Amino acid sequence: MPAGQGRGRGREGEGGMGKGGQRQGMGPPKECKCPSCGHTIPHQPGQPCYNQSCPKCGTNMVGM
Ligand SMILES: [Zn+2]
Repeated sequence: MPAGQGRGRGREGEGGMGKGGQRQGMGPPKECKCPSCGHTIPHQPGQPCYNQSCPKCGTNMVGM
């Protein structure tokens, strides 16, 4: 791996699509996202995203 990493690449929230990073330093490793309204919730271990409903609109969440 490069030695001088962390100079501006890989900052959070750069894409505009919310938190799409796979390797965030903190927080849950995965998130579930509502395909309808775009709301995201932390992924619950043992509970697939598609088994969870969006707290806002009730649509089944999808994994990210
Ligand atoms: Zn929703």
